[in-house]
Amino acid sequence: MLPEDWVARGLPIEVGRKLMTAAIRGNEVRGVKRAALEEIERTTSAESLRIEKRETAPDGFVKYLFEIGVEAVRIPVPCEAPGADVSAYAGKEKKYIVCVSSQAGCALACSFCATGALGFRRNLTAAEIVGQVLAVRAEADRPVRGVVFMGMGEPFLNYDHVIQAARILCHPSGGAIDAKSITISTAGIVPQIRRFTEEGHKFRLAVSLTHAVPSQRRKLMPIEQVHPTEELVRALHDHARARKTRVLVEYVLLGGVNDSPADAKALVDLLDRKLVKVDLIDVNGDTGGYRRASKKARSAFLDVLAGAQIPFAIRYSGGQEVSAGCGQLAAGERGARML
Ligand code: SF4
Repeated sequence: MLPEDWVARGLPIEVGRKLMTAAIRGNEVRGVKRAALEEIERTTSAESLRIEKRETAPDGFVKYLFEIGVEAVRIPVPCEAPGADVSAYAGKEKKYIVCVSSQAGCALACSFCATGALGFRRNLTAAEIVGQVLAVRAEADRPVRGVVFMGMGEPFLNYDHVIQAARILCHPSGGAIDAKSITISTAGIVPQIRRFTEEGHKFRLAVSLTHAVPSQRRKLMPIEQVHPTEELVRALHDHARARKTRVLVEYVLLGGVNDSPADAKALVDLLDRKLVKVDLIDVNGDTGGYRRASKKARSAFLDVLAGAQIPFAIRYSGGQEVSAGCGQLAAGERGARML
């Protein structure tokens, strides 16, 4: 519970803050009646999830499988991959970002995603989402400074628990992670994007697009049939204007499918370059039988984006050796049985 929730129960905000601190950190709280402490004990939990298995990739990414059968990934920043260019981080703090799951499985069945192939099992509670970060943080040798909701599941189909978890993670008495370092990624649930904008959250919004042509996107992301690209792009542009920030537009590059200069041109025509930043991700794993774009195709694609002055970045999706990359989380064979 957040301090504001305790205020709703008639307690002063400062007591609410102390109670939240006690719940998260297990501190003793002076000046709070025993009855209130018993109430917090009864109604809250700050348990980290039990780790079933951890696998470390050579580039420093660690994939965690939890007892409840979902996975999270600990991402080192800067990346420790041999030969990785870390010069941009000279003098900057070494830290971790945690990629968390919001659902067990996923109903959206994106054709390039291993989680989608599992189907939907259930929504995670806010405690189970926060518990992933607490478990990773408990054994981390660097501070955890960011959280991305890009693991298993569609966060905006579990909206209330995801927002509650994000609020706890950024609260000074809770996870104390900067709200702007918490990114929520959606495949395009337009009504919830609108709600997210109206509620004025400081968390960053990312939207997975992956094709700018609706008839092609439909084959890759069936959610297109429910929330078409046109509505989606209008909602993300409106969000960017309202929050005065760029929305991250994720584009999984699939060789021979969406990596041509014409595909890049369609993307340029669709997006307002002042309101977005395009995040390009090479497809991972073998779900859907896709292959990565060739260097030549990728470079021609990037030339079109650069020529149109669309800000973009190529996201390093690490942990390949342990299937921790974007779109690869499937909780393993054992975890899938546990779901
Ligand atoms: S990419 Fe995201 S929304 Fe699509 S199936 Fe995978 S987990 Fe679900």
